[in-house]
Amino acid sequence: MTCKEARETLGGRLESSVSKEQWAAFEAHMTVCRECDRRLRQTESIRRMLRRCCNRLGAPQSLRSRIALALPHRAA
Ligand SMILES: [Zn+2]
Repeated sequence: MTCKEARETLGGRLESSVSKEQWAAFEAHMTVCRECDRRLRQTESIRRMLRRCCNRLGAPQSLRSRIALALPHRAA
């Protein structure tokens, strides 16, 4: 798996459209690629934060996904 594919998998995961096989390849990439591992951690923390604040605000799922996808890339 390439870094580009890993990013796409990470984006797909936020929309719950990643297969078990894809995710296994993604996790294997995480063990060898520091950059993607960092991005994953960043995304996970943002997702947790979004879940807390968006649940309170009642933001639609589509908006949450867009925010979650946009933030890590901007920060990277
Ligand atoms: Zn990578």
